[in-house]
Amino acid sequence: MATGGDGIEAVNAAGIQAIKAGRNHSLLRNNERIFLMTEPLRTMAFHCECGSSACTKTIRPSLAEYKRVRSSPTSFMIAVGHDLPEFENVIEVCDRYEVVQQKGAGRI
Ligand SMILES: [Zn+2]
Repeated sequence: MATGGDGIEAVNAAGIQAIKAGRNHSLLRNNERIFLMTEPLRTMAFHCECGSSACTKTIRPSLAEYKRVRSSPTSFMIAVGHDLPEFENVIEVCDRYEVVQQKGAGRI
């Protein structure tokens, strides 16, 4: 029986491919879980939504925070201190942004 190098190399190559395939799938699944758990917490740069057309500030809410605030058509995320008290009420403050609501909005 011939035990040439081709057979061993073929087995090794197949084994390496199987290991690579298994490792890649495992890492991929782990990375997908990490992504799904952390994605809502990841902060991103958004433009300040204040009333000044000259404002170029950015704010860094998480995607979950942005979605929550923007689920209301009368609530806006602005840079800290960019509120216009005559037109809006600050309803939430943190070190990265403020949330304002248009005055008169939300009244029942
Ligand atoms: Zn602004």
